Amino acid sequence: APFLELRDAGKSYGNVEALRGVNLVARAGEVTCVLGDNGAGKSTLIKIIAGLHEHSQGELLVNGSSTRFTSPRDAQAAGIATVYQDLALAPLMAVWRNFFLGNELTRRPFGRLDIARMKEITSDAMRRMGIDIPDLETPVGSLSGGQRQCVAIARAVHFGAKVLVLDEPTAALGVKQSGVVLKYIARAREAGVAVVFITHNPNHAWLVGDHFVVLKLGRVSLDGTKESITLDQ
Ligand code: ADP
Ligand code: ADP
Repeated sequence: APFLELRDAGKSYGNVEALRGVNLVARAGEVTCVLGDNGAGKSTLIKIIAGLHEHSQGELLVNGSSTRFTSPRDAQAAGIATVYQDLALAPLMAVWRNFFLGNELTRRPFGRLDIARMKEITSDAMRRMGIDIPDLETPVGSLSGGQRQCVAIARAVHFGAKVLVLDEPTAALGVKQSGVVLKYIARAREAGVAVVFITHNPNHAWLVGDHFVVLKLGRVSLDGTKESITLDQ
């Protein structure tokens, strides 16, 4: 069964219907890509999954149980980690400190740790993902955009996120850095995480995706797996 599921979900802002009749599944060890042009409803979908907005219609299921997130805290406590394009991490803080920034997901497994232990955990987590950031004292703001996304992905995987929601992680990146981020998306998938990859880039989606949902004006216009989607549509 999928870990996360939206069934016939809808969201209106006053009389603006931003999403309608949306079905989406996120399964462990799979990448579900959500594609669509500006205004298609991608941000609204993220906000529902991340607990920033309640859905107005339909159902949100976590592990098969119908639920409703009324705050980001609810979503985090359910194992959902969201990496936003700009706000992924705190720019002035060192890499290792960012790893332990307060959050339901990161708070749970650890009580108070000393600094040496926190650095060790960060460095182990990065090594396991194969991410090369030589100095963990580096403020996140002086890393490249690609490195920042990678640190945020490693952090979510390390703290046992069940679902990793990525908001346009490659949108601001060049070809090479996009490639690196895509590699870590694949690693998160291999680690058994259910990845929801929001992107407007069909090439990036095709490179790492298992399942594709295309939104158009708030509705699903195409939904399928790599095998089931035909290219002559
Ligand atoms: P995307 O992220 O794909 O660009 P959005 O989810 O931001 O799409 O927007 C979907 C639709 O909902 C758009 O028509 C947008 O103008 C509208 N919308 C988004 N947020 C609000 C809001 N706070 N109030 C009113 N309309 C909104
Ligand atoms: P909030 O829940 O705090 O109202 P929203 O998620 O609804 O925040 O909105 C996020 C941002 O998107 C707001 O700044 C909102 O003004 C903006 N926005 C996006 N599309 C629209 C739209 N069509 N009409 C009004 N605001 C929009």
